[in-house]
Amino acid sequence: MTGRLAAVIGSPIAHSLSPAIHRAAFDAAGIDWSYVAFDVADGEASSALSAMRTLGIAGLSVTMPHKAAVAELVDRLDPAARALQSVNTVSWDGDDLVGSSTDGAGFVASLADAGVSVAGARVAIIGAGGAARSLVVALAQAGSDDITVLNRSPDKAEQAAALVPVASPGVISDLDRADIVVNATSVGMGDDDGSPCEPERLHDGQVVADLVYHPLETRWLRAAAERGCRTVDGLGMLVHQAALQQRIWLGDDAVIDTVAMRTAAESALATRN
Ligand code: NDP
Repeated sequence: MTGRLAAVIGSPIAHSLSPAIHRAAFDAAGIDWSYVAFDVADGEASSALSAMRTLGIAGLSVTMPHKAAVAELVDRLDPAARALQSVNTVSWDGDDLVGSSTDGAGFVASLADAGVSVAGARVAIIGAGGAARSLVVALAQAGSDDITVLNRSPDKAEQAAALVPVASPGVISDLDRADIVVNATSVGMGDDDGSPCEPERLHDGQVVADLVYHPLETRWLRAAAERGCRTVDGLGMLVHQAALQQRIWLGDDAVIDTVAMRTAAESALATRN
């Protein structure tokens, strides 16, 4: 191997799209970096960070189940990672390891890519897990001033909404007045053809986004499109959170080709089908 090495840690990791997405970005930019996936068992994040230090790995993506553990292991956290106590990106600042969270900002960037601004928008998020929490923080930071969190387990909706002053736990009728409705549950993933809410709840003029990207067009997203909603699939968030990781590792001047990254992700997904 020549050049520098970046990697993703998680478990299971075999189906991660991160290697395809990041390699496409490095190739498109003509950068001599390699990117590999390491299956790191739950509880072993500390060893992985030691390896990062010992081997001089230049950048790390972090996925389940290590996001919270890594937040406790790095030397510093960026504001989003601090608010969430969750890290999906590790980078170097001198001898320090810095933990960042690019998931929520990646979602906001995917909306911007689709021509959707969140400034002043009323957003309803269905789900209150790690992904939903990252959205709450990033949407508030991007200027959404009315965020509602709905979840099967109401206590988790309350906890997610408590992350920022402009969010509150909600009920199903709150979907009616939302400008943007997001599925941040795992409902609709893989063979599950369920819907996070009755599509009849959705109406013309709303933007409907699904974080699920496998399948790329969920049944819920298709139903939303049929009802006249503008739809945004989950692959945009995956690509843009990776693009923000590239920006952290390579610097502000880096040229990052999100079209090449998305094409690579779509190809990798197609082989999965
Ligand atoms: P978590 O396990 O942290 O949270 C899962 C959420 O889904 C919880 O709110 C849970 O509710 C809810 N849920 C699960 N099953 C059901 C069900 N049958 N009915 C209603 N609610 C349900 O997962 P994450 O937050 O990490 O991920 C959520 C989804 O987002 C996944 O599909 C994941 O693949 C996707 N994702 C996509 C990303 C992207 O880049 N596009 C990035 C990260 C995640 P409860 O609290 O009641 O259990």
